[in-house]
Amino acid sequence: MLDSEERQLQQLARTFTGREIIPQAAELDRTKAFPQAIYNQALALGLLNLTVPESYGGAGLGCLALTLVTEELCRGCVGVGAALSINSLAADAIIHHGSEGQKQWVLPRLVAGELASYAATEPGAGSDVAGLQTRAARDGDDYVLSGSKTWISNANRASFFVVFARTGGGQAGEGGSRGLSVFIVERGTPGLRVGEPLDKLGQRCAPTCEVFFDDCRIPASQRIGEEGQGFRIAMDAFDHSRPMVAAFGVGVHARCLEESLAYAQTRQTMGQPIIRHQLIAAKLAEMSTSLEAARLLAYRAAWLIDHGQRNTLAASQAKLFAAESVMAAATEAVQIFGGMGYSTEYPVEKLFRDAKVLQIYEGTSEIQKLVIARELQR
Ligand SMILES: Cc1cc2nc3c(=O)[nH]c(=O)nc-3n(C[C@H](O)[C@H](O)[C@H](O)COP(=O)(O)OP(=O)(O)OC[C@H]3O[C@@H](n4cnc5c(N)ncnc54)[C@H](O)[C@@H]3O)c2cc1C
Repeated sequence: MLDSEERQLQQLARTFTGREIIPQAAELDRTKAFPQAIYNQALALGLLNLTVPESYGGAGLGCLALTLVTEELCRGCVGVGAALSINSLAADAIIHHGSEGQKQWVLPRLVAGELASYAATEPGAGSDVAGLQTRAARDGDDYVLSGSKTWISNANRASFFVVFARTGGGQAGEGGSRGLSVFIVERGTPGLRVGEPLDKLGQRCAPTCEVFFDDCRIPASQRIGEEGQGFRIAMDAFDHSRPMVAAFGVGVHARCLEESLAYAQTRQTMGQPIIRHQLIAAKLAEMSTSLEAARLLAYRAAWLIDHGQRNTLAASQAKLFAAESVMAAATEAVQIFGGMGYSTEYPVEKLFRDAKVLQIYEGTSEIQKLVIARELQR
């Protein structure tokens, strides 16, 4: 199914993960340190910014390539994988909707190693994108942003923020989805402030922060697309990002299977390795089957968009299935390890903690079901 170039890229990422990520994953989880050295090495190897066009210094590859690499990185540690791949959320909005000037301004700097954050979620609006309240008021040739965002990945390291804000519709809800626009804000702009990283259950080396806009003035030339197109740009971004986020889950799922299989072959109870007990063997069989299904759904959603086909349904199905099946796999992995599954001595308790957020970010599982049901009715 994959061509030789894709297999090579996958192998490169696999080798890198085994050598650089797996040995450091537990320590990064403990210290919550951003994996800067790993980032620099992955950048030098050409594993990052894959979808940035060659004319801006990127690899010019598609969503499938990104999905393949992301899966491998996340097999090592999904916190590292997330920290390394978040740029693509912001970059894709600029690649697909930005002006030539915006592309020339931001994309080469991302390729050179700078980071960008995607800032949609607010304390009062996560699933309800159309209800967000950060305002961007037009003032001559500028916009003035006020409001706050939360849970913004890599925000404490980002040079650029792709920010969703309300330009029309009065209060949140009045203008609904039509009142939103999207802007690029550069770190250092007066009125922009980033909070300390939030403490969280899993993916602890991937920082997430609050971001505050206090009369933050930016030129109108930093608006991406037309005024009022923000909601459409956000939904379009999901079509590109959900296959990649599904691959976050596939990576963790693959690791759950790997660790569980190895443990089940060595741990003995009642005179035999636990894999010989049918109830344990059945868990492994189910884990491997759902892994293959999740992987194929992710690849398919990525392939469709790479071939110019609408993938909203496929991307939500892939994200939903990957998130639900990895959580089930991580739960069973802990079970297969018994008491040792609950210990930090083995990696499965981290896989369990890391897996949970896959049902929450990039659209919760409930929201994916709403999207799928809506798509079925089209
Ligand atoms: C680690 C992490 C990293 C993140 N990174 C980013 C980032 O980089 N950029 C960014 O913009 N955001 C980011 N987010 C935010 C994330 O996308 C939101 O948390 C998510 O969309 C859910 O929004 P919420 O937290 O406001 O939950 P809510 O929207 O309040 O949902 C609460 C519950 O209600 C359910 N629910 C809500 N509406 C409906 C409905 N209509 N029907 C049925 N059920 C419903 C939800 O599924 C959920 O179970 C991140 C979050 C986390 C935890």
